[in-house]
Amino acid sequence: MCRDGDARNGQGQSPWPSFLNRPASAYAMRIYISADIEGVAGVVAPLQGQPGNPEYERARRLMTEEVNAAIEGIFAAGATAVLVNDAHGPMLNLLPELLDPRAELILGKPKPVNMFSGLTADDAGVVCVGHHAGAGRPGVLSQTINGFCFRAIRLNNRDCAEATLYGAYAGALGVPVILLSGDDVVAEELGPLFPGAEHVVVKRALGHRAAQAVSPAIARERLRRGAEAAVRRIPQIPPFRIGGPYRLELDLNNPALADLAATIPVAERLSPVTVAFAAETMAAVIGWVNTVSVMSAFLR
Ligand SMILES: [Zn+2]
Repeated sequence: MCRDGDARNGQGQSPWPSFLNRPASAYAMRIYISADIEGVAGVVAPLQGQPGNPEYERARRLMTEEVNAAIEGIFAAGATAVLVNDAHGPMLNLLPELLDPRAELILGKPKPVNMFSGLTADDAGVVCVGHHAGAGRPGVLSQTINGFCFRAIRLNNRDCAEATLYGAYAGALGVPVILLSGDDVVAEELGPLFPGAEHVVVKRALGHRAAQAVSPAIARERLRRGAEAAVRRIPQIPPFRIGGPYRLELDLNNPALADLAATIPVAERLSPVTVAFAAETMAAVIGWVNTVSVMSAFLR
């Protein structure tokens, strides 16, 4: 289930056990981190995001250390709590034993709102670590939500990367995205959507599976400094909003995937490869994207 992304967070609605549901309002300032892996310095290949090989084991450590660097900067700027959400693939990538113990960590899936699970209207800002460009863009490992499933995602005629969709979800809660890290294409593509946010570039895309990167140590230093600056600047960073009502158009990678998505009774078939959904809230938009994404496993 998804909570209503356009309403202020209600009390007592969470299906989670109470010990996992300490509200962000219990802290003076909580920052939320959504951690992906494609945009981490040193990551360039799909293999590095897929469990079951030594390259993945190295990549998840690099990912955890970049998140740690952001956490350090966030606390240095005066925040009092950090909630980290593992937002890549199996959502079981970050190494809890290596993560800065000051942060709490959401691992696993399925979970409500997926890449921004646990974000509430009381959080002060969102930090996106290791993010990447949207499907069809020139960035490293560019894709949107599910590379097997989606060729493009549009919301109210706007071409959306993951950070666009989820940034708008956060914006509907009134929470600004304050930092995005990844390659140079992320900064170029998403920079204009998040004016005032920090854009930390850790590598330059040379193709979909090649990049020139700074060393992990330099990447972490940039993240630490960027996160500290971003938290200090929160009052000047506006939330990103795409006003509703929403029309979501999904371009699937082949007609069979669109046939499958079109079996959802409220889906509208626009072309052999495109289906559309109407939605009142950003939570519902995210819900439809993830519903179709999960269904696509049937055709793998
Ligand atoms: Zn990912």
